[in-house]
Parts: sequence; C-alpha cells; structure tokens
Amino acid sequence: MTSYTVINPATERPVTQIEHTTAEQTDAAIERAARAQEAWRAVAPGDRGRLLRRFAEEIDAHVDELAALETTGSGHPVGAATWEAGQVRDVLAYYAAAPERLTGKQIPVPGGLDVTFKEPLGVVGLIVPWNFPMPILSWGLAPALAAGCTVVAKPAEMTPLTAIRIGELALAAGLPEGVFQVLPGKGSVVGQRLVDHPLVRKIVFTGSTEVGQQIMAGCARHIKRLTLELGGKSANIVFADADIERAAASAPYAVFDNAGQDCCARSRILVESSVLDRFMELLEPAVKSVRVGDPAAADTEMGPLISGAHREHVASYVPADAPVAFRGSAPDGAGFWYPPTVLAPVAADAPAYTEEIFGPVVTVTPFADEAEAITLANDTPYGLSGSIWTENVGRAVRVARAVETGNLSVNSHSSVRYWTPFGGFKQSGLGRELGPDAVDAFTDVKNLFIATN
Ligand code: NDP
Repeated sequence: MTSYTVINPATERPVTQIEHTTAEQTDAAIERAARAQEAWRAVAPGDRGRLLRRFAEEIDAHVDELAALETTGSGHPVGAATWEAGQVRDVLAYYAAAPERLTGKQIPVPGGLDVTFKEPLGVVGLIVPWNFPMPILSWGLAPALAAGCTVVAKPAEMTPLTAIRIGELALAAGLPEGVFQVLPGKGSVVGQRLVDHPLVRKIVFTGSTEVGQQIMAGCARHIKRLTLELGGKSANIVFADADIERAAASAPYAVFDNAGQDCCARSRILVESSVLDRFMELLEPAVKSVRVGDPAAADTEMGPLISGAHREHVASYVPADAPVAFRGSAPDGAGFWYPPTVLAPVAADAPAYTEEIFGPVVTVTPFADEAEAITLANDTPYGLSGSIWTENVGRAVRVARAVETGNLSVNSHSSVRYWTPFGGFKQSGLGRELGPDAVDAFTDVKNLFIATN
C-alpha cells in the first residue's frame, strides 16, 4: 500500500502521512455503500432529515477544528477556512429539509391513478479537487444523502484531511455505517474505480476539464449519471458608466481569492477603453493592498499556492518578458508563495489570456463597445462565472443574457450561494449543483399507473 505525505503549503513542512486506499478496498467500500443504501432509502423522510440536521450540528461544533485542519493542510487563510467549514454545516442544514419535500406528481390519466416518484439513484461516487476540499464535498454529499443515496467520496490526494474528519463526524452524528465513506487515495486508482464500478450509479466530479472528459467517457460505458464542474476563464466586464472606484477596488478579490485557485476566478478583466487608464490607476493600489501571508493570521486575505509543482505551473504563464503591469506582495522563504500579478496589455493568443491559470494572475484587456465586450467574454471554451459593472440597467440585462456562462453578477462578484444553482455552460461543466433542485439530480423519475377499474 502506498501513502501520501500532506505538506503545509505555507511552510513546506510535512503535516501527516495518509495511507492510500487500494482498488480492492475501493470495491469493498462500494459494496458496503450499496448494502447500506437499501436501508438508508427506507429511513423515514423525517428521520433522514433529522440525521442530516444532527450531522450539521456536529460540523458546527467542530468548525474551528476543521478550519485549522484546512489552514494547515491546504494553506487556506483561517478566515476563509472558517467560512468554508460553516458552508458544510449550512449546506447540510439546507438539504436536511429536502427528504420530506421530495414529492412527485399526480397526472390525470383515464382509468386509474398516475403518480411519479423520485427514486434515489443508489451509490454516488464523489470526486473532489484540492482547491475547496470542504465546500465542494458538501455540495454533492448533502443532496445525495437527502435523496436517499449513499456516498463514497474521494478527496484530492493533496488535501484529504478535512474530508476524513467530516467522515468521522458523520458517524458521530449517527449516520449509519456505509452511508458516507471517505477513501483517500489516487484519482487513477480510487477515482477510476468509482467511475468503472457498475454499482456506482452516479459520479459527481469537480476538477480539470481534461480529467472531466475522461470521466465522461468512462461513465458512458454504464450510461452512468454524471455531474461535472470543470474549469473557467471568466470575464469581469467593466463599462465606462460603472462605479469605477468600486469595480477596481473589488476586482482583486474576484480573482485572487484562494490565491486564484478558484474555478470562478474572474481572471480576465475587460475594461471599456475610455476608462482604462483610470481603472488601472485605481487597480494598482487595490492589488498592492491585498494582504498575502501566514494563513493562520486572522487578517490574511491570500495564502500560498497548493504545491511547488503548481507554483511552477502558474509561473510558466509569466515568463521573464511577460507584460507585468504591477504586482502585489508575497512572503520570501519557505512556502509556495506567488504574488498577485496583473498582466497588461496581453496578446489575444497569449496562454495567460486563453488558458485557466488557477493562480493569482489576471489579465486586463480594453474593449471599444458593448458588442466587443460580449465577443471577448465569449471567446473561450469555458463558461462558468463572470461579472458586469455598469449603472445602466438595460445594458446589465442585455449583456448578462448574451454572455454564455452559468453564474453572473452585476455590480458584485458574488461567490457561490448554496441555495442558488451553480454550474457551467460549454466546457465548464454539465448539470447543476446546489439550489432548490439539486436533490433531483440524485434521483430517477418513476411513473406508476394504477388501474381503478
Ligand atoms: P484533476 O482534475 O486532476 O483532479 C481533480 C480530482 O480528480 C482529484 O481528486 C483527482 O485525484 C481526481 N482524478 C484525477 N484523475 C482521475 C481519473 N483518471 N479518474 C478519476 N478521478 C481522477 O485536477 P488537478 O489537481 O490535476 O488540477 C489541474 C488543473 O485543473 C488546475 O490547475 C486547474 O486548472 C484545474 N482544476 C479545476 C478545478 C475546479 O474547481 N474546476 C479544481 C481542481 C483543478 P488526485 O488527487 O489523485 O489527482
């Protein structure tokens, strides 16, 4: 059996060693989950809801512990990590209300009664990335459990600690054995087994578009249900009639949050030419004032990148001759630090402009008018999020309807809200997570006709 040493990204020191789950152990866990599902789906809706509420309370009692684990194991600033642990609690509490509301329809049919049921799919395989280990786990976990599915989760190899602890807290809250299992290990072993095993009826995957494509092909063999949350290269569009001060002051947080390791990062700022100089003047102090440093400090806004290899990958987008307009700060010495970096002007075919960097690097590109802003925003295979800054309500709605992306904000950079739907257009994904309808994605509709004569 192999193992992985979790490294603190802020210090490069080892935190702990985690044994990898083997393919055989994965199969055994999937079979356990399938057995557990027969009993779990039969738990009365009110009792399933009660258990999910208890699970949420258990998380709430351990928010600080979970946040500290994420700070040490993933380098997230403690303020952000505390919010993330709180989101796990809130997502569980939100979907705890779903079991009693999982209603079907009664459809008028002559000669009998026609009703629909939303039947749970069975075992769900949840493949989680390293950038937001806690929230992304909960987005799949909570609605799946509410629907009557059982869950086998594979955290990312680099960031397994909070998922393992959340698995323990589920048992402490009274969830029956086998209803939620966490299998730390490799994507190529555990993740692949979840995709290939016929007893896993649905995969929920968040990660790179490349691996997402492989998973989609693997699921096709079993017509396995699939939700994909993939990459992004989202635009932050600033029109000349916007509140430029607010747009510039908030732009760094729309891309440097989580050190840019965020699929929703607004990593392309598009600015109407007539206000470009003013915007850049205002953006510079905003970028330089982002507090980058020790993730354990309460006022830190940006921590390190996840690993040395990822830092090299991010740095490859900023070669020595890159058009660096200005940069923020980052600590020297140990830790996978990279300063917030603004590139301008960038060529339309520069990899920094076209590819997802997943680090604290943003490009600024001018546009002439509304039509060009929309063309530039849509000139990407991705379509996950985006922002529009304008005081003209008609333009806000026109542009929002024209930009091909799943989640947009006007005069704000709202992050994911668990009670609204989240997901991507084009190559950013398939299906939607969160919001009032998420439980449906863990069910199949059954139609039943009962003759009355
Ligand atoms: P991956 O897509 O490789 O990893 C995401 C998850 O999938 C991990 O749990 C991983 O396991 C697992 N996985 C990997 N290969 C397979 C497989 N063949 N079958 C099943 N599961 C698999 O992302 P990376 O960590 O390599 O990041 C690369 C880039 O992807 C980033 O730089 C970023 O651009 C993008 N990304 C986007 C994310 C998003 O939120 N949309 C999240 C993460 C990355 P393991 O940990 O063992 O690799």
